[in-house]
Amino acid sequence: MRLVLVGPPGAGKGTQAEFVAAHLAVPKISTGDIFRANVTLGTPLGVEAKRYMVAGLLVPDEVTINMVAERLAENDATDGFLLDGFPRTTPQAVALDKLLADLGTALDVILELVVDEDEVIRRLSGRRTCRGCGKIWHVEFDPTTREGVCDRCGGELFQRDDDKAETIAERMRVYARDTAPLIDYYGTQGKLVGIDATGPVEDITVRAIDALRSYGG
Ligand SMILES: [Zn+2]
Repeated sequence: MRLVLVGPPGAGKGTQAEFVAAHLAVPKISTGDIFRANVTLGTPLGVEAKRYMVAGLLVPDEVTINMVAERLAENDATDGFLLDGFPRTTPQAVALDKLLADLGTALDVILELVVDEDEVIRRLSGRRTCRGCGKIWHVEFDPTTREGVCDRCGGELFQRDDDKAETIAERMRVYARDTAPLIDYYGTQGKLVGIDATGPVEDITVRAIDALRSYGG
């Protein structure tokens, strides 16, 4: 099965990507991993991507798409894959369709994790990270015994910039702007399936697997 996982920041996409890919026995391919691998190995694409990243600029689509193309051509992705973090925009989705068509194949399904903005803000803004050991706690879902102090190492907890309400709101705006048209694009192809991504992680995985069953997963 060839699928793409989409969802807003804070939807638990990374976690679901792991579980769903394991269930389907396909590689989980995330752009973050591909970027890191190319940069670490110093491939030509990695060197180019790094130039942009060092300058704090977005890596151009062309570079990203070429990295994805190389990754999808590897042996383990021949019979299927789960893409996480790509495509993010409609032009990227069009490029991916073309790339797969050139390989004589196509996407089977796009799985959308649906979660409303209030829930995302509640999840992310409650996160607290330990300065000592890096463990992530949550004021509501996974609180420490003493407020602001890590139970594991006694370190001080802080809120990362990424987890601040204003940063989250901005990321949600970017997601809505770039990804809503992407979701429409796949909807028109009849390949979109949305699942409720609220509640316990295990329940979301079960919903995802159930939803994919009718697509041959
Ligand atoms: Zn700690």
